[in-house]
Amino acid sequence: MKLRMGLQARFLLLMGVALLVVLALVALLLNRQEQMRREVEGVSRQAMRTMIGQSLRRQGEATTTQLAATLTNPLYYSDLDAVGALARGTLRMPDVSYVIVFDEEGRVVHDGSEDIASYGKPMDDAMAAGVIAAKGLHTQFDDRVMDVSMPILIGQQRVGGVRVGYDMQAIRRFQEQAVDKLRARLDTLGQRHVIWVGLLGVGLLVFGALSLWLIQRLLVRPIRQLAESAQEIEAGHFDTVTPIDARNDEVGDLMRAFDRMSRSLARHDREIRRMAYTDALTGLANRLAFRESLDERLDQMHGAGRQLALLFADIDDFKRVNDTLGHDAGDEVLLQCARRIESAVARVGGEAALLARFGGDEFVILVQGADDPEEDVRGLATKLAETLVVDLGAPVDVQGRQVFLGTSIGITLFPEDAASGTSLMKNGDIAMYQAKVAGKNCFRFYSRAMNQAVERRVHLEQELRGAWDRGELSLVYQPVFRLVDGAMIGAEALLRWRHPELGFVAPSVFIDVAEQSGLIEILGPHVLHAACSDAVAWQKARQDPDPLFVAVNVSPRQLRSGDLPDVVSACLRDTGLTADLLHLELTETAVIGDELHASALLSELRGMGVRVWLDDFGTGFSGLSHLRRVPVDGVKIDRSFVADVLRDPDDLALTTAIIAMAHSLGILVVAEGVEKEGQYAILRERGCDFAQGYWLGHPVTAEEFLQLRR
Ligand code: C2E
Ligand code: MG
Ligand code: MG
Repeated sequence: MKLRMGLQARFLLLMGVALLVVLALVALLLNRQEQMRREVEGVSRQAMRTMIGQSLRRQGEATTTQLAATLTNPLYYSDLDAVGALARGTLRMPDVSYVIVFDEEGRVVHDGSEDIASYGKPMDDAMAAGVIAAKGLHTQFDDRVMDVSMPILIGQQRVGGVRVGYDMQAIRRFQEQAVDKLRARLDTLGQRHVIWVGLLGVGLLVFGALSLWLIQRLLVRPIRQLAESAQEIEAGHFDTVTPIDARNDEVGDLMRAFDRMSRSLARHDREIRRMAYTDALTGLANRLAFRESLDERLDQMHGAGRQLALLFADIDDFKRVNDTLGHDAGDEVLLQCARRIESAVARVGGEAALLARFGGDEFVILVQGADDPEEDVRGLATKLAETLVVDLGAPVDVQGRQVFLGTSIGITLFPEDAASGTSLMKNGDIAMYQAKVAGKNCFRFYSRAMNQAVERRVHLEQELRGAWDRGELSLVYQPVFRLVDGAMIGAEALLRWRHPELGFVAPSVFIDVAEQSGLIEILGPHVLHAACSDAVAWQKARQDPDPLFVAVNVSPRQLRSGDLPDVVSACLRDTGLTADLLHLELTETAVIGDELHASALLSELRGMGVRVWLDDFGTGFSGLSHLRRVPVDGVKIDRSFVADVLRDPDDLALTTAIIAMAHSLGILVVAEGVEKEGQYAILRERGCDFAQGYWLGHPVTAEEFLQLRR
């Protein structure tokens, strides 16, 4: 780990360095002052020595000069008593160590003593020669004495002289004492100085500590607080309170700016969360929000012995609304459905209910049982599902039309069906799918058997993948007749799947699987190719003046993929079938889903000579007016209408209207699912062009079909 040098540490370090510098300065100062004190002492000693020496000399010279003057007469008259008195008088003066009065030859006349032991002796000390030779006042020094001498003159005649010796050691002692006093004085001064310097040092230290404290308070602490807040925010805790400071300075500005910034961050975070957790269209919770709440609830539930139920509601055939009325109408319908579900949940769902839209037309509701037995939550879910089926079954008014929709609901229970959120969601989906399979507009509780149904579907898809290559898929042909003369004019190719283990699988089942898995895009061209070659074979077998057409079903997905015209033209080229003998059957939804794109493709196909039919006509939402905009050659009336033409006057009226309308647009009409003679008769009577159905002929293999034709 890299060692981090924080702001505070840096300040401490800085203060430490400053302290050291101050201490060094103080030490230097003290050292300088000691040196100075020593120098001052030396200089003073010198000065004092000089001064005392000079004053002593002046005093000695004055004394000696005066003594010489007073001695003139006594010496001249050889009055030894007077000389002695004067000499003794001088000798008594402080520091005088000797007084010698001498004659003109340098012999001692008197030395101030009583007996004058040296009387008449010539002076023979080291300084005597200088004294005798001197013509005036003469001063000499050696270590011990200062010798001041003065010749004694009468007129121009020298009668002798006088020497006064001063004791230098005594003087030096005096000097030392004076210097000692001076030193003592200097020492006191020095000590005072040290105290001052010490006080100054302490003052500096206090000042440093004070500034450190201030810096810490004013700068380091707020910055550290900011850094801590920033770290909190970085960690995602946007509600962290930033310390606010009313200070009117840059740091205050910074803290306030930081506070504003963190508030704005928190606001944006809330906004983003809101956006991430709500469905934009309905304002309900979305999948993410629901998933989180569900997991939370499950966490609380574990071991608490409580139950909950998930209801997966899917609006039936909602896609048709989008396809036929447009997406705006689709949104409108969804909104109305959402409001109905919301109100149903509020009325029946209980307090703890949660509602979310999972995108598209799927709504999920969570209901929670009280602490009562399990029956409670099952009952609650049942009641809510019943209410939803009824409420959503009521017509929806949109863009001035009434749209009839239903809802399929799958219900799964916790902890009965599964313990984890993921499994519960999967179960709910499966149960909902089963409600759809069961005929829509109803609800189903999840059961383990349903899982098997889903697994079967997955298995089916895997098996279907190689079915064509294994030769399990084949085509059967159902004849189509002209109603006016009852002539057979063509056949619709229908795909069959015989699986070695599963046996015969219904087209309604495997076509759906192929459609949803995308396999249809591989199967479709195979079917087209096979149907075209069979049609060519029929022609060759019977040199028919009126060759039969073959009608091939095309899935919405094939149309959407866009390369249908290329596939068709390649098929025609390869098999040699004439284009007008190929009819393509497209469902309404395939065409209406993307009208512009579809119209362009259909025009292109028709341009090649291929006929296009709208299959299962009447089951979608497209009005008859729709036919005007889509270029087709005819419509196939769905067998649900044909089934009831004899019983239901409404269906008859609608069938009649479709026939009339189609004819007015110049397109043909085929009736599907004719099972009874009566149906055939009435359709013929109403002017329907063609018909197919079990009464006319069941789907048969290509060979059987050829026999049939004969
Ligand atoms: P469809 O195109 O409407 O085909 C007509 C369906 O009605 C066929 O069912 C046919 O057997 C059935 N049918 C004919 N006459 C009667 C009758 O009198 N009464 C009753 N109740 N039913 C009759 P099938 O063969 O089960 O096909 C179901 C659907 O599967 C077809 O409906 C079609 O949409 C789709 N399909 C079949 N083969 C293909 C194919 O090769 N490609 C594509 N994309 N879809 C296909
Ligand atoms: Mg068809
Ligand atoms: Mg049909």
